[in-house]
Amino acid sequence: MATVIGVVARETPTLRVGAIMLGLQGKVAFVFGVASEDSIAWAICKSLAEAGVTLYLGYQKRFMSRVFQLKEKLPAIAGFYPLDVATDADTKEFFDAFGKENPGLKADILIHAIGFAPRECFDRPILFVEDESINTAFTISANSLQRCLKYALPHLNPDSSTITLTYAASTRHVPSYGIMSMAKAALECWTRELACHLGPEGHRVNAISSGPIRTIAAGGIPGFDNILDHVANNSPLRRNVTQSDVAGCTTWLASPLSSGVTGQCIHVDAGYSITMVPSSIMGE
Ligand code: NAD
Repeated sequence: MATVIGVVARETPTLRVGAIMLGLQGKVAFVFGVASEDSIAWAICKSLAEAGVTLYLGYQKRFMSRVFQLKEKLPAIAGFYPLDVATDADTKEFFDAFGKENPGLKADILIHAIGFAPRECFDRPILFVEDESINTAFTISANSLQRCLKYALPHLNPDSSTITLTYAASTRHVPSYGIMSMAKAALECWTRELACHLGPEGHRVNAISSGPIRTIAAGGIPGFDNILDHVANNSPLRRNVTQSDVAGCTTWLASPLSSGVTGQCIHVDAGYSITMVPSSIMGE
């Protein structure tokens, strides 16, 4: 058995043809946001690797030992360097290190799977969250897309594809998501504006709005298990999505198969975002 773009299937010639048809063989990707085996970014790494992509990871120093262990499991990871998007200098550090070790090498894909908000953003009523915490949430979870692309651009081939990860609380109320709802709305706006700004050079920028998935970041959201239960019972597919579901769509967005798609926010959420009144009220 093997996993190709998130689909578990038998290792057959058809699968290999599928990987070739994606047009990603020999491409290079920056992947930001691997913290553990549960990270959505890790599933994306595995999916891109299956499609023939070489990976360069940016990791936050606090997750260094976990990322080092994971790296051993995926030969497609050719390099990994510290990345902290909290400041310009720490973001630039990644691209300086990449450029120094790989002179002239350009990437085709940038995965931005980064999110963070201080504890009080979830614990306090939104009316009373301090400016400093709000600013941190916006800097790390939204504005960092611009910061990453600013420093990545000299290292990107024309026709590159950037994919960020967002959540539906950007447009509709989700209890306890708090300040992150506003940060995700800003991230989606950055996605559209950067798509327009970079589109004339051929670069694409898209967002995937993922349904809830248990990860380290999700662990900080109060009542997260209740949200998982609710979605599993009320989404059209009657289940939650997995990291592989998101990775599959990401791999498609990274590939030339999606060459006409930019500035979009695509929901990978078992269809939950199209619902309003839960089917469960009818006993369905
Ligand atoms: P995760 O905890 O595995 O990943 C979050 C990543 O953000 C970590 O790798 C962490 O190192 C990185 N990060 C945080 N602050 C950073 C900083 N200052 N500099 C650099 N990196 C930093 O969790 P995840 O759920 O895989 O999150 C990935 C993305 O997916 C996030 O943007 C998250 O909001 C989004 N998302 C997650 C869910 C979910 O339910 N898990 C749903 C929708 C969207």
